Amino acid sequence: MDLYEHQARQLFAEHGIVVPRAEVTDSPKRAREIARRLGGRVVVKAQVKTGGRGKAGGVKLAADPAAAELTARQILGMDIKGHTVGTVMLAQPVDVAEEFYVSYVLDRAAGRFLAIASAQGGTEIEEVAATRPEAVARVPVDPAEGVTSATAARIAEAAGLPPQTVDVLVRLWEVLTREDALLVEVNPLVRTGDGRIMALDGKVTLDDNARFRHALWGGEDSADADPLEAAAATKGLHYVKLDGEVGVIGNGAGLVMSTLDAVAGCGARPANFLDIGGGASAQVMADGLSVVLSDPAVRSVLVNVFGGITACDAVADGIVRALDAVRPTKPLVVRLDGNNAARGRAVLEARAHPLVEQATTMDGAAGRAARLATTT
Ligand code: GDP
Ligand code: MN
Repeated sequence: MDLYEHQARQLFAEHGIVVPRAEVTDSPKRAREIARRLGGRVVVKAQVKTGGRGKAGGVKLAADPAAAELTARQILGMDIKGHTVGTVMLAQPVDVAEEFYVSYVLDRAAGRFLAIASAQGGTEIEEVAATRPEAVARVPVDPAEGVTSATAARIAEAAGLPPQTVDVLVRLWEVLTREDALLVEVNPLVRTGDGRIMALDGKVTLDDNARFRHALWGGEDSADADPLEAAAATKGLHYVKLDGEVGVIGNGAGLVMSTLDAVAGCGARPANFLDIGGGASAQVMADGLSVVLSDPAVRSVLVNVFGGITACDAVADGIVRALDAVRPTKPLVVRLDGNNAARGRAVLEARAHPLVEQATTMDGAAGRAARLATTT
């Protein structure tokens, strides 16, 4: 299964690869609002599962929110190589200094993976390979060894990429292996004017044979999916609609499942399953909250986060920013524990949002959210 760009970039972000801030919509009016939120100037990008969108007129810079609406109107419905554009992504424009190409692809014949990289990114790699084959490095990767920092350094060196790309190459390998992908490609991977490395485009093909390991892949194969699930899927969220009234957001599928049990144990019913993953950025938190809050059956929301690699203060920052972006109308109970929990709680306390209260234990939080849902 091929992913859309916005889904691919979601996976990149979860694995710590930096991507520009962006949102997806199917409405020109919403495109205008999104552009305003993103600072005015945006890149409007057709979401279709084919490359060469730039050349086909499916990637355009809009100078302000009004232009973003107009451009979205132009691009939505457009036909790109037989794919009708149903959604556009609006992204914060990036000041590009250099464009690179990097990918890992399964080399079935050789029984291993192949890293393909080039300092000549941006244009189609087939073109570069045809005209300047020496500019495209091809480095075999033993699947049992994987891509270590040393392997990544060899790939970067062979392709003439700067040393800062080594970290991205390692993380991209993690995307491939952890997400069961057969192909991951970033074109362009860019060095920005201020020296950061960012993925401006993404292509991921997941291995359908691994579907059983990813119960939540769902996606486009379920055309008759629940509308909330469909909305969540366009944001790349792992969301499953349930029948109750307590919205649940957590990080890590196991923790979320325990949270559902805890809510049920307190005499309420969970309204959904939503795992925002280990990264739990402000954007993901905002996307998650907006999906959960748009469920009319939800009467309270339980946010249950155990800080691991992502510290609780970062998650709390995310919640605060999400609160400003989403403007909840229903009460939230937040339980933060683990790495930097005290700091995270202090961040939420300082924000003092009238609809947000904190709990220190999962059972306490579940009990409170259940009570709010059944009595308000
Ligand atoms: P593709 O044509 O389907 O591969 O779509 P891309 O997402 O790769 O976009 C096409 C091209 O637009 C990229 O190769 C970039 O050169 C350019 N582009 C996309 N986003 C930005 C941006 O934020 N800033 C700049 N300067 N260029 C961008
Ligand atoms: Mn591209």
